[in-house]
This record gives sequence, structure tokens and C-alpha cells, in this order.
Amino acid sequence: MSLAEIRHYCGLFAIANHPDAAQLTYLGLYAQQHRGQESAGICSVDGEHVIRRAGLGLVTDAIRAEDLQQLKNPCAIGHVRYSTTGSCRDENAQPLLVTASIGQVAICHNGNLVNAASLRHDYEEHGHIFTSTSDTEVILHMLTDKHYAHKPDSLASVLREICGSYSLLLLYPDRIEAVRDPSGNRPLCLGKLGGAWVVASETCALDIIDADYVRDVAPGEIVTLSATGELSSRRFVEAEQCRPAHCVFEHVYFADPSSNVFGDNVHLVRKEMGRALAREAPVPEGDLVVAVPNCARCAALGYHEESGIPIGRGFTTNHYIGRSFIQPTQSIRDLTVRLKLNAIPGSVKGKRLVVVEDSVVRGTTTRAKMNSLRTAGAREIHLRVASPPIRHACYYGIDFPNREELVAHQRSVEEIARYLEVDSLAYLSRDGMLAAARTANNHFCDACFSGDYPIPIDPEFQKDAFERHQLRFFNGEGDLSVQDTDTRSK
Ligand code: SF4
Repeated sequence: MSLAEIRHYCGLFAIANHPDAAQLTYLGLYAQQHRGQESAGICSVDGEHVIRRAGLGLVTDAIRAEDLQQLKNPCAIGHVRYSTTGSCRDENAQPLLVTASIGQVAICHNGNLVNAASLRHDYEEHGHIFTSTSDTEVILHMLTDKHYAHKPDSLASVLREICGSYSLLLLYPDRIEAVRDPSGNRPLCLGKLGGAWVVASETCALDIIDADYVRDVAPGEIVTLSATGELSSRRFVEAEQCRPAHCVFEHVYFADPSSNVFGDNVHLVRKEMGRALAREAPVPEGDLVVAVPNCARCAALGYHEESGIPIGRGFTTNHYIGRSFIQPTQSIRDLTVRLKLNAIPGSVKGKRLVVVEDSVVRGTTTRAKMNSLRTAGAREIHLRVASPPIRHACYYGIDFPNREELVAHQRSVEEIARYLEVDSLAYLSRDGMLAAARTANNHFCDACFSGDYPIPIDPEFQKDAFERHQLRFFNGEGDLSVQDTDTRSK
């Protein structure tokens, strides 16, 4: 899949009780840059005040070295973002920070609240002024609302009112609170670095700073990290009432292969998906397995191991394309794909290729990649996709195109093969995907494949999501811009 077709969502990082908290947060965000490239930010606290540094662009663009010099405090939280609710504007960069009667509080969010619009509407009716268009801001308004602020556990009370997908970090002058929604839809893990506690979306961020993985934050749990190194935990929803619905797309595409999410290593799960694909959809006459770099390398390796067909390179990757640029026409879009991924004629010429993709969304970039293989002399192209056809929208924070733009919407596999101009096409089955991803007690959301939504969706929210997508399109976002910072190709 190409980043032109779908954007990532967000990455979180927090550390408490470390003299270099801001610097380590910077590195933790850098390690998770693949989760969001539109904006980045860090909030730090010195026991008295919360300080915010955030901006648009990659971590290296948004946070300057001199900012870090000013953040010499023991606690910090950070965020990399791709906007799924709220557009790409400076004020939507997270962490969001407010100073209110309850004091200062900053927040970062990974996910999407499905009832944010109605909550926000109620607050606006009562005169609240919102400074961003992000769904996350409504949580700050609730926390500062006296109805919740005076409760013994105001955060837990607020969390019981919000609905959807959320992993959260909140920074107060004396502590950090890390929260995972009752479905555990987004990953969130806890680590230890000497006397410091660390929280991150992915374990790759722990690895990068040499922190040890301790455990995942549990669905329905609030973990409190004090500025002096104590950890405590409480629940806002009892464990038996939590229904896990982990996003299976983390394993298919989002997470870094080096990370462990939902208890399993992403690389190994993807490799198993490739193995299952080889069993389900063999190509006995294939000469060479080729990954569509870089996302599908793990699955291609699995396909190669299971089938015994040699694996090789089909493309070179241009790492130097700028972060984003507008592509006004399809022909320019196709050329851009070729610029990023150039087929290697010496490798593919005259071969019957088994091309492995992790997933296909719109299909436009996949088709361009297949065309460049054909132009480079491939004799046959047998496309194998290591996940099922995507036929449904995601309302939990992933910015898929709307259904009509999905290549698998109302098309059979044969019709998709004709559109992609390949000799044969097969997808991994839903059972095959879940069997590869599942470990004991794991339950996944796979709604974008199956249409079975584990967290109920308000019809108003569905309408709102559609309109938001249209707005992005007409703003020249979504369909028309490309982000080429695929840091997962490590
Ligand atoms: S709908 Fe798809 S992308 Fe969205 S949370 Fe579920 S599995 Fe993940």
C-alpha cells in the first residue's frame, strides 16, 4: 500500500522521572514517525508549569534543538499526528494544553471519538469556546467542567462518557496519566528505564531509548506516573466489562515490524500472513517473489518460505522525495509512484512474478506499480495481497477514502484484477488474517474488511465522517497529496 492511499494516525510517548525527559520524548517520537507526519509536539513539566512546543511537519521540523534546551524537566509527553478528525492546522497539533480552574493539563490522543461532535455541540450551546477542530479538545472541556471537576475521580468520570477509540496521555504539573479505551483499540505499552517510567504507542519507541518493556496498559485502565517515579493503576471500566477490539490493521500495515503490539511481534505476524497467503493462493509456476516495498517485505518473506519460490528485489526505492507535494492529475500521480519505486528490469525481465502487497486501498498506486513492472519486462504478474479486500470505512481513527473510492467496493476479485491489469489476483482470507494475528485472548477489530463494527457508530457521526472526508478532498488533502516518509522501511 502507498502512503498516498492512506495516512497513518498518531503516535504517543511519555516519560516520567528522568532528567532528559524532553530529549528522550523527542527520540521516542522520532522512532514512531511512521504513525504521523503532519505535526509533532512535546509538553514538559517542571513540577509547577506545563510548557508546550509543537508545530506542523515531521518531528525534526516541528521541534527545534533550542526548544529541547528549554525543556529540562523530569516529565514529558509527546505526540506525532496525522489528522483524522480536525484538519492539518497549527492549533490542532498535539499535545493540546489548557490552563483552567483545575490548573494546567495537556493531552495527546491516538484514536477517534465517535461521540465528540455531539458532546462539543452541547458545550458550544453553553458558551464554551473551542480553539481547535480536533475531537480531543472536548475531553479538556469535560475535565474543566465543574460537573466532572468536582467528582472524586474526574478523569474516570469523563472517560465513562466518551465513546470510540482512544489511547490518551495527560500531563499535569505533578504527574502523567496514561489511558487505554475499554476496547484496547490502539496499542499502548509501559516500559522502564532505570528509575523512569515510559509509555509509548509502540515498543519500537522503548527499544530506541533502551527502555525495558514491562506490560501493555490494559483496556479500561488508567496508569498514573508521578514526577518522582511512583506508578499506580486504577480502572475506569471493570475488566470483565471490557470487550477487546484491537485494530488488526496495526499488524497488517501500521506498526513498525520491530514492534510488539497486542502481545505479538509485527514482523512475525506479517510473515505468518504471507505464509498463509502462499497456502491459500499458490502460484506454482512463479519464478520470483517480489515485495512491493517496503510495507510488504515481511509478508513476501513468509510467502517465499512457504512456497519455496525464490525471493528478489523488483524495485529500487527513492528515499529523497520531499515530504509531500500536490499531484493534480492521475498521470502525474503515476509518474510520482515511478519516481518513488523504480522497477529493476534486470531482476524482473522475462519472469513470472509473484508480487506481494500488504493491502490495497484505492488501487491507483498499486496499478501504477504493476505497470512499471510490466514496462520493465515482467512476463506475468500474479498479485497476492496479505489481507482481505477493504470494503468498509474505519470510524476509529484511520483515514481511509470513502467507500466509493475503495477499489474493492462493489467489485469482484476478477474485476479488481482487470482494473489493476494483473494476470491473477488473490487476497488472504479473513480467517487466514485473524489466525495469523490472533494470540490467546486476543480479539480484533476488522471492520474495514468485514463491516462488523465492534464499537457502535452513531449515524450522525457516520454522516459527519463522510463530510469531513469530502472537505479534505476539496481542500486538496486526502486524494491529492502524498506523504513519502515511510520510516517503516528500516
Ligand atoms: S476498522 Fe480497520 S483500521 Fe479501523 S480500527 Fe478496525 S481494523 Fe483498524
